[in-house]
Amino acid sequence: MENPFNDTYFMKKALQEAETAFEKGEIPVGAVIVVDNKIIARTHNLTELLHDVTAHAEMQAITSAANYLGGKYLKGCTLYVTLEPCQMCAGALYWSQISKIVFGARDEQRGFIKMGTQLHPKTEVVSGVLANEAADLMVRFFASKRK
Ligand SMILES: [Zn+2]
Repeated sequence: MENPFNDTYFMKKALQEAETAFEKGEIPVGAVIVVDNKIIARTHNLTELLHDVTAHAEMQAITSAANYLGGKYLKGCTLYVTLEPCQMCAGALYWSQISKIVFGARDEQRGFIKMGTQLHPKTEVVSGVLANEAADLMVRFFASKRK
């Protein structure tokens, strides 16, 4: 039997967080951090609520996961995030030494790839998981803002 706890399964959880952000009028980006198939952090973007440009989903997920684990490094953890991390988050993820990052949609303008930001050499990266769903959410969000 196929393992139900695959990348798609956890990305769906991150998308649920992104939907919650959308409903709150936040740019819809969601994240979860998983260790041994267990979700230890679920967060979404809160830059509007907190009036804080650093309140990206990933930043909060890193803090939340480290609190849960009682240690600052996220070795053995996987981050699922609906949008390609920006350079700030990529930098924070570098410091966390997280084992794996799975992201959905590319951010062609402000993603870490375009910005040339390096992740930790031990961090594995997977991209494009449920990318269309994540991108659709962003398109719908910005369309609703223009109305
Ligand atoms: Zn970010």
